[in-house]
Amino acid sequence: MYVAELEFSVIANTDFNQAEVAIRNYIEALIFNGQVLGREFPTAWLQESFSCRVVLPHQDALQPKQHSAKATAALNHLGAAGLAFPQLNIVGMDLMSQHTDPCSAPASYIVYSRFSDTCSPVRCGEHLAPIPLYQLSNTATDFEMLIRWQLQYQALDEIQMQQHRVLNKSAERSLQQLHSQLNRQGRQLAKQLELANQVPVYYALYSGTSPDCANEADKRCPSCQGNWRLTEPVAELFDFQCQRCRLVSNIAWDCQSPS
Ligand SMILES: [Zn+2]
Ligand SMILES: [Zn+2]
Repeated sequence: MYVAELEFSVIANTDFNQAEVAIRNYIEALIFNGQVLGREFPTAWLQESFSCRVVLPHQDALQPKQHSAKATAALNHLGAAGLAFPQLNIVGMDLMSQHTDPCSAPASYIVYSRFSDTCSPVRCGEHLAPIPLYQLSNTATDFEMLIRWQLQYQALDEIQMQQHRVLNKSAERSLQQLHSQLNRQGRQLAKQLELANQVPVYYALYSGTSPDCANEADKRCPSCQGNWRLTEPVAELFDFQCQRCRLVSNIAWDCQSPS
């Protein structure tokens, strides 16, 4: 991942609100297409220009050919708000975020996210490294549904990771139960990606606690009840994989003794 600055020069009469809305619309369109990561983009007004700091999954992420129709429309609207097309300055590698997957054509993908991620929720099925979303085919106009799903997933994960939880067990249930609204939506999005890309797309089902640690390693696929235990974990993380149900999961964290 790369830290970059986008500089929008003021080229005509504009007021702060008009410029702010135009910049926000453009960056948000980039976020919902996976071209900009995270959801914050600190922006400074420097009188002659606006400077906006973003994190990119790849150095070429902002090339116009990667834009969704919405991003192109927002880019073309900058002029009406008195702003030039932005100048891109790559500041350097982002030390805080994961590296983009090196595979040119992964054999499978995994939809996976954790609270601390600032990267794509679509990962390489072998390396678990993030795949820039704009590189994927999609039936929708962009990846807004997937990004919005990820925001909710991360918010719930953040809550259940806290020692003094305000929602007790309900956040964990949303992440862990196969038929929670969150997981139903996530699996549906994985299925759509699979259809659009013609590559298997697995959904990572979170497993934090289990009522029966003694039998946790032999648990069955929660969807088809089949045997889904792997001899070798996938991506050093998933002990279970059901090809039929397109699910991967792990032995519940609480049952993995630190022996
Ligand atoms: Zn890979
Ligand atoms: Zn299954």
